[in-house]
Amino acid sequence: MRIVLLGAPGSGKGTQSALLIKAYGVPQISTGDLLREARAKGTELGLRAKAAMDAGKLVDDATVLGMIRERLSQPDAVNGFILDGFPRNLAQAEALEKMLADLGTPLEAVVLLNLDLKILFKRLTGRRICETCNQVFNIYTSPPGMLTEKCGDKPHRLIQREDDKEEVIGKRLDVYEAQTKPLISHYREAGLLRVVDADADMNTVFKNIQQAIGTPAQ
Ligand code: AMP
Repeated sequence: MRIVLLGAPGSGKGTQSALLIKAYGVPQISTGDLLREARAKGTELGLRAKAAMDAGKLVDDATVLGMIRERLSQPDAVNGFILDGFPRNLAQAEALEKMLADLGTPLEAVVLLNLDLKILFKRLTGRRICETCNQVFNIYTSPPGMLTEKCGDKPHRLIQREDDKEEVIGKRLDVYEAQTKPLISHYREAGLLRVVDADADMNTVFKNIQQAIGTPAQ
């Protein structure tokens, strides 16, 4: 399986990636996670990315493409991958196509998680992440009981991502509209686009994705 999960921030790409990993045994490659990891480790790349991320803007293409090239060359990506949050603009999509053509492993599908802007805003402001295990929750939409589950033998330590604060969310959604949305027609023209309604509970959306890509779980 070699797919891209496309969708605005808050459309559920991370949640659906986790379900896809379990079902298909291929790694999720999330440029957002890779960048946050680099920042947490205080690497030079992480420091370079910080200002753009905190402002809700895109990190420069050269940085992101270098990171993707390196990640795709890891052994666990040989049998496939789920790209989450990448590509984010046309230049990245074109660079990805070239990279995969060189490897002889073209994309199989691009799944668009389609969701109304108003719902996205609510999802983003409600999103919380457990600092310990990285599990994603939502104070408005997580199933009852989920927020009180244990993380190991302690309660989850829920935090809000800096860029999920209301002042940054508007900027991130603007960036999506201006730079990432054009990828929809790009991939439609390439015959790769599969549109999935993302306004449903996570298991229903997952079933819709499976139907859209027509690939049974291993
Ligand atoms: P995400 O977790 O995917 O919402 O990404 C968080 C932030 O990381 C974004 O707002 C961007 O600043 C940066 N980022 C993630 N992926 C990319 C990408 N493909 N290109 C540029 N910046 C990115």
